[in-house]
Formats: sequence, structure tokens, C-alpha cells
Amino acid sequence: MSKRVALVTGGMGGLGTAICIALAQAGRSVVAADVAVTPERLALFQQATAGLDIQVAELDVADHQACGELVRTLQADAGSLDILVNNAGITRDATLRKMDPAQWEAVLDVNLGSAFHLCRHAIDGMQARGFGRVVNISSISGQTGNFGQTNYAAAKAGLHGFTMALAREVAAKGITVNSVSPGYIETPMTRAMPPEVRERTVASVPVGRIGAPEDIARAVAFLTDDATGYITGANLPVNGGLFM
Ligand code: NAD
Repeated sequence: MSKRVALVTGGMGGLGTAICIALAQAGRSVVAADVAVTPERLALFQQATAGLDIQVAELDVADHQACGELVRTLQADAGSLDILVNNAGITRDATLRKMDPAQWEAVLDVNLGSAFHLCRHAIDGMQARGFGRVVNISSISGQTGNFGQTNYAAAKAGLHGFTMALAREVAAKGITVNSVSPGYIETPMTRAMPPEVRERTVASVPVGRIGAPEDIARAVAFLTDDATGYITGANLPVNGGLFM
């Protein structure tokens, strides 16, 4: 059997890089799709992923047409798109009273709209081949809410509903759709937190540490394995016990 082809959005970010590495180490042929791929970023990413079967593609996941073009290119060049990890995400935090429509729309488009755009284009091919694995990277914020994140929490909670509805639609076609909800993981996104908030957060995690990107990557590799076809519509929290 030829290698399964995996597309990881936000693939050059903190979690994305770890997910790409884990999938490549699991024998997948991986494409890391990301926005604003500068030569500096590309060089760092290539250094981190040297020797692995990982290509880079530039993509704005909020652009429906561009998502379709990338999926078609992969299907033509690599023969299939078997695994889709909707991982790209942004925050534009503000309390509701201070949030402007642009902050709301950007977060909904990138975090939630992207799952529609990519799944809409990828699902027919998966269905035709009778195999597919979709993992949507949600967040603990989508389960508990988080101060200053009505936009982000709505998008991430929306991903849970999206995951379950699509899982039902494609379950009989060999395609699973699941979500992973990280807690606080060491990446540029959380390094941007004010130090006192970060310290307080880590102190509240039952396992006593901030998560590593590899903790998330391991969960994604598990859910995208050929052997985990009986898990669908599920949300896997990877949060050190912060919310249970
Ligand atoms: P990150 O900022 O390191 O990575 C996000 C990646 O998405 C970046 O490479 C960025 O360039 C890319 N991206 C942003 N907008 C894009 C667009 N329009 N099109 C394509 N790519 C785009 O953040 P991260 O911590 O690695 O987060 C990855 C995912 O995990 C996000 O969905 C985030 O919401 C989620 N998450 C992270 C944490 C955490 O603690 N780090 C916790 C819960 C959930």
C-alpha cells in the first residue's frame, strides 16, 4: 500500500510542527500548510524536520477557493489526501465590550471556517477511496470558555459540533472525524501570555506542568492511525487534567 498522505494546517507553528513530525515518523507523507511562509520561517522549519517526508505549501485556511486548489493539487500530485489535521488557529483576545467585528470574524474564519473549507474539498476524495481521518484541533477554551475569548471559545466549541455532525455523515464511508482539545501547551501562542497569568495557569494543572507539543502530536497520531477506525465523533482532551 502506498504511503498515506497527510495535510496539517498551521503546520509550521508550535503544535503543527510537532504534529507533522509525529505523522511523518508514523510513516505518513506530510504536507505542512501555513500562511506567510517567509524564507526565515521555512529555514527553521526545514531544520526542525530534516530527513522526514514533509513538504511545505502556502495556504490561507480562511480562503475557500485556495483550500480547494491545494486539495486538488495534492490529489493530483500525491494521488490522495487521506489525513486532514485542521490545526491552524489564531487568537484576537478582548472582552466582548471591547471586541470589534474584525476580531470576531478573523477568529471565526481561521479557527472554524477553515474546517468547513478544507473538509468540504477533501471529503469526496476520502469517500471515493473508502478511507479518511480528520482531526480538528479545538481547545479547552471551547469546553470551559475563557475570559477575553468569546470569539475563540465560540469557534473552538463550534468545532466540537462540526466534528460530531460530520462524523455522523461520513461514518459509514471509512472516514473518522474527531477533535483534540489541548489545555495549556508550550508554544508561541502561550508564550505570549503575561508571566503572572502563565504561572497561575501552570499551578492549576493537576499533572503539575505545562503540556509539550508532543503530547498533542501523540494524540493526533493515534486518532489518524489506520487501526483507530472505531473512534469517531469523539473529543480527546489533552490537558493534564485541567478540565475533566
Ligand atoms: P501557533 O501560533 O504556534 O501556530 C499556529 C499556526 O497557524 C502558525 O504557524 C500560523 O502561521 C498558522 N496560521 C495562522 N493563520 C493561518 C491562516 N489563515 N492560514 C494558515 N495558517 C495559519 O499556535 P499553536 O499553539 O501551535 O496552535 C495550534 C492550534 O492549537 C490552534 O488551533 C490553537 O488554537 C490550538 N490550541 C493551542 C493551545 C496552546 O496551548 N498552544 C491550546 C489549545 C488549543
